[in-house]
Amino acid sequence: MALLQITEPGKSATPHHHNLAAGIDLGTTNSLVATVRSGLAETLPDIEGHHLLPSIVHYAKDTPPLVGTAAKLLAQTDPLNTIVSVKRLMGRGLSDVKTTGTRLPYDFIENEGQGMPMIRTVVGERSPVQISADILKTLKQRAEESLGGDLVGVVITVPAYFDDAQRQATKDAATLAGLKVLRLLNEPTAAAVAYGLDQEAKGIHAIYDLGGGTFDISILRLQRGVFEVMATAGNSALGGDDFDRLIAQWIMQKAGIADDAEHRHIRELLDIAQCAKETLSTQDTAPLNIQLTDGINWQGELTSEQFNTLIDPLIQKTIAPCRRALRDAGLTIDDINEVVMVGGSTRMPRVRQKIGDFFKRTPHVNIDPDEVVAIGAAIQADILAGNKPDNEMLLLDVNPLSLGIETMGGVVEKIIPRNTTIPVARAQDFTTFKDGQIAMAIHVVQGERELVLDCRSLARFELRGIPPMVAGAARIRVTYQVDADGLLSVSAKEETSGIQSEIIVKPSYGLQDNEIERMLKDSLEHAKEDSFARNLREQQVEADRVINALRAAITADGQHLLKHQEFLDINSKLNELLSIKEGKNAKVIKKAIEQLDEVTQDFAARRMDHSIRHAMTGRSVDEFTEN
Ligand code: ADP
Ligand code: MG
Repeated sequence: MALLQITEPGKSATPHHHNLAAGIDLGTTNSLVATVRSGLAETLPDIEGHHLLPSIVHYAKDTPPLVGTAAKLLAQTDPLNTIVSVKRLMGRGLSDVKTTGTRLPYDFIENEGQGMPMIRTVVGERSPVQISADILKTLKQRAEESLGGDLVGVVITVPAYFDDAQRQATKDAATLAGLKVLRLLNEPTAAAVAYGLDQEAKGIHAIYDLGGGTFDISILRLQRGVFEVMATAGNSALGGDDFDRLIAQWIMQKAGIADDAEHRHIRELLDIAQCAKETLSTQDTAPLNIQLTDGINWQGELTSEQFNTLIDPLIQKTIAPCRRALRDAGLTIDDINEVVMVGGSTRMPRVRQKIGDFFKRTPHVNIDPDEVVAIGAAIQADILAGNKPDNEMLLLDVNPLSLGIETMGGVVEKIIPRNTTIPVARAQDFTTFKDGQIAMAIHVVQGERELVLDCRSLARFELRGIPPMVAGAARIRVTYQVDADGLLSVSAKEETSGIQSEIIVKPSYGLQDNEIERMLKDSLEHAKEDSFARNLREQQVEADRVINALRAAITADGQHLLKHQEFLDINSKLNELLSIKEGKNAKVIKKAIEQLDEVTQDFAARRMDHSIRHAMTGRSVDEFTEN
């Protein structure tokens, strides 16, 4: 299997010259930028000393966009122009956005499911890529001011789950922000790098990442500088925000505030709830002082005991994906050597305790869970920028969903199975279905199900100019290649003629985490019925092929090579197959094909003899002995 060797672009650079590079954690809730200075990786603060930049952008007329805390303050009063959680929209279409269930208050522009969702703001339409670029610009500026020079490049982290379109959108945002992307790095891998697990560490690591709105669990295998993401799972609608909501609901109940309270009151309560939650990470009680503008006053407190009872079901919800990731990796809890905590929400002592219990190990928490991803990215950026010529690191990731191709009958042939280590290239040979076929349609799909209609269509292209041959004679090699950033390219080549065609898959929108989840779940639930459906389709396709070939043979040679009774026998079996092939029983179709095959065997043999004799008649022996 192809392993990625990260070369050292700076090997030839003059010694002691330090290339300025940075690692960026472009988070759903918060973003950070970090760099390596004097051998130490550290996150960079803004002028007020804040390291976290809330991933929020506010647009107003005639001024540059506001990013971060300042924008957050405007979220309540100007929600339509204040974009939060834009990461959820990256690389997705409007139809995806609408089906997420997450209510986003923006004014989306209808463009019939095509392309990126655009958001109408006072400064015009903005795409998620542009909005992310505004966040990245802020981080770029912060880094360049702090380091006193231009960045040669950055490493940006993405969830291990991100699909092709989401990764591409992230790269596009960086380009738009004027940043050179040295590499997209998976968040869990970055966390492992930050813990220095790359150096000497060996074994299996679980990276548990609970952020503001998402949960990811990844199982990494480490062997001296080699990282392999063995499996990933998660829940794209579970994070710190849900804990805030629970506390807010609890307060509303205690203070007798109606469920349908005004939006801005709920917003205010959520802020108070978040504050209380964060207090409880270091203290046993959090005082609550509710004074809403319309006269609602309530004083009370939340103890960590009460809080723990409230949140235990949420923490429990992260366990199922942990189990699934373990199962996908073919491991049990006892195989896990280390557990790493990532994401602001893992500051909660209860989370650490419960997850420690589950994995039967005290989790790593030495590095600030907010910063760990950015720090790992900075270390990687430093190496890729050529500042550590002696350090070699291999980073391996996996593709989250199987990549396949549509074959006859709408059946999916998987070419790169899910959780295959990337970068990877896999080829498979296909052939033509009909005599004289000169083109082949290649349909690239993503998903776990057996039938094309249950998978996601990624791209279509055609291979033209195949020399006319009998069905089954052409050899078309289709190669799927996924690069280190997780981007797919597909090529097809007809081996006898050498004609070739290829495509870089850059779908206009991709899958979101919970859609990936759903597809995985579906595939497990439907495994049996899918294999049944696949089997049936395959038999139907085979029946069509046999019927077509037989009809062509009868037209060509039936007249002179078939006896009358023989013709009647064949015809009756042929009709039998025709009448049952649209049915639902693959076994019955198979049997009918076999029977048809049996009655046509003599005819086929005679045709073979005949065509050989035909080829030889009228030619002298000399012709065959000539070279
Ligand atoms: P993301 O990866 O989604 O950008 P972060 O990793 O920055 O998110 O996590 C943000 C979440 O962490 C927020 O919900 C925030 O309330 C929560 N958080 C931050 N600090 C603490 C703390 N001390 N205790 C509990 N939760 C915290
Ligand atoms: Mg994060």
